[in-house]
Parts: sequence; C-alpha cells; structure tokens
Amino acid sequence: MPKTPYATPVQVTRASLPPLEDFLSHVREIFASRQLTNQGKLVMRLEQALRDTLEVPALSLCNNGTVALQLSLRLLGLNGKKVITTPFTYVATLSSLLWEGCTPIFADIDPRTLCLDPAEVERRLAEHPDAAGILPVHVFGNACDVEALAAIARRHGLRILYDAAHAFGSTLDGRSLFDWGDAAVGSFHATKLFHTVEGGCVVTHSAQDKERLGLLRAFGHRGDEHFCLGINGKMSELHAAMGLSLLPQLPDMLAGRRQRAEMYDRELRLEASPLRRPALAPGLNWNHAYYPVIFPDHAMLMRAVAALQAENIFPRRYFYPSLTRLPYVDSPACPIADDTAERILCLPFWPDMDEALQVRIAALVRGVCRA
Ligand SMILES: *Cc1c(COP(=O)(O)O)cnc(C)c1O
Repeated sequence: MPKTPYATPVQVTRASLPPLEDFLSHVREIFASRQLTNQGKLVMRLEQALRDTLEVPALSLCNNGTVALQLSLRLLGLNGKKVITTPFTYVATLSSLLWEGCTPIFADIDPRTLCLDPAEVERRLAEHPDAAGILPVHVFGNACDVEALAAIARRHGLRILYDAAHAFGSTLDGRSLFDWGDAAVGSFHATKLFHTVEGGCVVTHSAQDKERLGLLRAFGHRGDEHFCLGINGKMSELHAAMGLSLLPQLPDMLAGRRQRAEMYDRELRLEASPLRRPALAPGLNWNHAYYPVIFPDHAMLMRAVAALQAENIFPRRYFYPSLTRLPYVDSPACPIADDTAERILCLPFWPDMDEALQVRIAALVRGVCRA
C-alpha cells in the first residue's frame, strides 16, 4: 500500500484513446481528401457504424451533446414550452432547456434508480397541465421507467426527449436505451464511455425527423435554398476520426468496466457496508458508465472525499448540487433528489484502471465507513 500520495492526480475518469496508428490512418484519409467538415465521409461512416452498433433507425452526429439536446428540443417543437425534467443530472440537461426558452418543471426521482419517478411526473402534470414534454435522463447509464413514461406521454399527448448522455452501451431487454422516446441524445465528450473528444448525437425514428435535424444542424439551408432557422451543430471529420478508431474497442471497454466494477464491489465489502448503490432497472444490461456510491450522510461523504484527496485522488460529486438549488433556478424542493445529491459520490473509474489503485481507493473509503 503506498504511503505517499499518487504522484499524478487521480481523476474520476481517464479518457479512452484508440491506438495512435488507427487514429492516424483516418487522419491521413482526411488530409488526402481535404474534406474537413460539412457531413464528410468519416462522419457519414461513423453515423452508419453507430446505427449498426446501437441498432437504431436513424442517428445524426452533432458537435456536442448540449447542442444535440437543443436541436432535439426544436425538432420536437418543445422550445419555449414547459418541460418536465429531473434535478438529478448534469447541468447541461437544464441549461439546454433554458437556452431554448423552455420552462423546466422539476419532478423528483425514484430513490432506487435515481431516474425520474413517473408518479412524480404525473403529480407535476396535474399542477402544470400545459406542459408539452418530458426530458428524463438515464442517469449513470441506468434506465428510466421507459414504459411508464411512454404511457404518461400517450395519455397527456406529450413528447419525450431522453437525455441518454450516459447510456451508450446500456441495453434494456436487449434494446439500446438510445431507442426509446421521440428522440434520444447521446454525448461523446472525452469523459464519456465512448467519445469523439467533443461530440454528440440524436437518435430519431423517421426519415422526416432525420432530414429536419440535418437542416437544424447546418444553418437551415441546402445550397441557396433556406428551409428553417438553423445553427451550427455539425461534427468535424477529425472528431469522427476519433470515434471511428475508438469504436472497435467498445466490447473491450464494456468488459473492462464490468470487471472493474466487480472489483470495487468486492473491495468495498458492500454487504457489510453502510454504502448503498443505485438499484438497476429490471431488464437492464448496464454499461457501468460510472461507479456511484451513496453514503448514509453528507458528513461521511465529506470525510471520504478528504481521505482520498489527501492521497491526490479526486472523486467527483456527480451530481451536486441538486439543480433545484442553482442560483438561476426557482423551483420547489425535490426532497429525494436534493437529499441524494448531498450523499452520492462517483469513485475514479475507467475500463483499464489499475487494480492496485482500486484496492487503495476502496480501503480508504472503507476506513471512513468504519470510523
Ligand atoms: C455530458 C452530459 C451532457 C452534455 O454533453 P456534452 O457533450 O458535454 O455537451 C448532457 N447531459 C448529461 C446528463 C451529461 O452527462
């Protein structure tokens, strides 16, 4: 066991990289063609490869997940409308709503899965019958109660846009989580399980939606013909090169995550620990996008953070604070989300993480739990 802190800071994750030669072979292709962006060959190829991998009908790559959310809100006609969403998520879920002039209505989460609770959505809908859509998040790659949410949307005539930023590689009853809702958005930011350095995507279910998204993403015009208001949401060829060279590693990355999650489970001695883990949705094959642990109280979490930081290890408080508490938000409390946000911590975790490091982190956390 090391007595001195780790020389280089240990962050909550480490970006995956493809073999450099694989990346360079795609870059050489870009240099040869001189097509650098604007729906080039590599972007098209990556869109096809992701459609095949995820088995979804249509997928459009974007320059990041936040813009992909904003484009999707427009696609579904939700801009400027009331949208029910969760306060337990990364701030981008909320900021994309606000940036599109939507009024976010927070509904509380299910304390087990940490995803939007359908009963709470119903409760908020009774107070806000003019809501036009739901923006749930598959938090940490766990699955929302997609059937219950679909039933609510049908009953009330709402559109559902899933923030699936964490859900790449998670399947529910064998089907990608990207395949649910009127549209689903992925993030391919460097910190995500699969990435293109910066990037994102929108999964849609009809040729018209795919076509319209293509316009929204590229200034709303084709040649000299202008169809609608658009913005620049395009992915570059260089970013697609990263995705194309990283995608073949997906099975190894998923297997590595699973194996290291099992390692943490064992080393944390969860059965005898006050720590709790989120409960997985029934039928989920989890991508292990993160390794969250829930402490019994905030004080114990802070002691764990201090013990780890003393050894140059930096877990992240995903997601803290609860978005109901942000200075530019005026929302009634969501007691479960607000409380969970105080007590949850994501431990450093990546697919080829060193086992000795995991053993050390688990020992430090166990020490705090015993104290
Ligand atoms: C990462 C993330 C986003 C934003 O994606 P970017 O590609 O970084 O813009 C949105 N929602 C959630 C839940 C995320 O974790």
